[in-house]
Amino acid sequence: MTPVIANILMDKELAHKKEIADSQAALLNVLDDQKRDSEKILKKKAVDEAILASIGDGLVVVDKEGKITYVNQSFEKMLGWSSKEVLGKRIVAVVPREDEKGEVVPFNERILNRVLRGEVVVADLTNPFYYIRKDKTRFPSSSIVNSIVLDGEIIGVVETFRDITKEKEIDKAKTEFVSLASHQLRTPLSTINWYTEMLLTGDVGKLNAEQEKYLNEVYRGNQRMVGLVNALLSVSRMDLGTFIFEPEPTDIPLLVRSVLDEQMPHIIQKGITVFPALGTNIPLIQVDPKLLRMVVQNLLSNAIKYTPEKGKIEISLTLTNQKKCLLFTITDTGYGIPKNQQHKIFQKLFRADNVREKDTEGTGLGLYIAKAIIDNSGGKIWFESPSSNYVEGEENTGTTFYVELPCKLLEKNK
Ligand code: ADP
Repeated sequence: MTPVIANILMDKELAHKKEIADSQAALLNVLDDQKRDSEKILKKKAVDEAILASIGDGLVVVDKEGKITYVNQSFEKMLGWSSKEVLGKRIVAVVPREDEKGEVVPFNERILNRVLRGEVVVADLTNPFYYIRKDKTRFPSSSIVNSIVLDGEIIGVVETFRDITKEKEIDKAKTEFVSLASHQLRTPLSTINWYTEMLLTGDVGKLNAEQEKYLNEVYRGNQRMVGLVNALLSVSRMDLGTFIFEPEPTDIPLLVRSVLDEQMPHIIQKGITVFPALGTNIPLIQVDPKLLRMVVQNLLSNAIKYTPEKGKIEISLTLTNQKKCLLFTITDTGYGIPKNQQHKIFQKLFRADNVREKDTEGTGLGLYIAKAIIDNSGGKIWFESPSSNYVEGEENTGTTFYVELPCKLLEKNK
């Protein structure tokens, strides 16, 4: 071998060794990076777990099939299940959900499943519901659900939920207070009513014109107060579940006619024309007549209040659904209900923007009470009002309220 060839071979060997050393160094670097990355991941995981564990709310993660992939410590504590027992199981089987009456909410209607299907429902705070623990006891809860999205596809959801037993107790105590206070207020208000009536009828001497005018104001003010106190009492009884329903066979056309007669002075005062079509052959219906009267009174007085002078009101009573139901409708040519507020109309104390200034005496309690009465009587109440969103000056599109009641006694009373 010539020295030149020997040199070339040595250079090659050196280059080869260097190559090996370089690739070993690169490999070590990659391993180092990987070690650092996995340390980072482990650290992040530990932090995430500590965060999730420190959350006082229960937290559960489910995959696309509704199977549980993660629960935090609060979930375990609140529901009595350990994480090992529930991982991989369907949430619907592990944590059933019930409504106020104890009916199980079907999985399809659960907010969690609705979010999985792509609906954008996030908070479920207004609808009270109950979660059932492992030991079959239950607690009231409210929850927030968010979807987990990867590449634009929903791959699961995270639900956090809270035990709202305390909030419910406080709410109940407040309602009991309102109930007690309004009950106590009724006696002095009746006394004012009684003595004012005596003074106005001249039982204790003749009043001069000014005295009579002022006393009439006192009387009207007191009547409003009685109305408000009675509404508050009804609402608190509804909320406490102590409202008493005493259904009996009731002649509804007669009831509607008598409410109409009672409110005729207001109708005449506003120059409103009423078209009643109270049907013939309407059977007696099993409802509480006093409560149904409250509903009809409220719907008619609203139609009068929220319709400008010279407007029209149509009232009808018909049998529907192959005579299985009675439908009461009341249509006015009034201010209408703004579209963007229609979903709140049956809520307690809600009044739409377009009527607040026109009628300052409303309370926003009437429809809440009406809905509770109709729901409890096995019926349905709803409305249609083609109003667009509230724009000053754009109104008078009218409203129709519908009340449907089951005619259970139809055959018997024919
Ligand atoms: P109130 O009449 O005392 O305000 P209600 O509970 O009876 O309370 O009604 C709630 C709200 O629903 C009203 O304030 C009004 O905004 C709307 N509303 C009810 N009936 C009608 C109607 N016939 N036309 C227009 N708005 C109505």
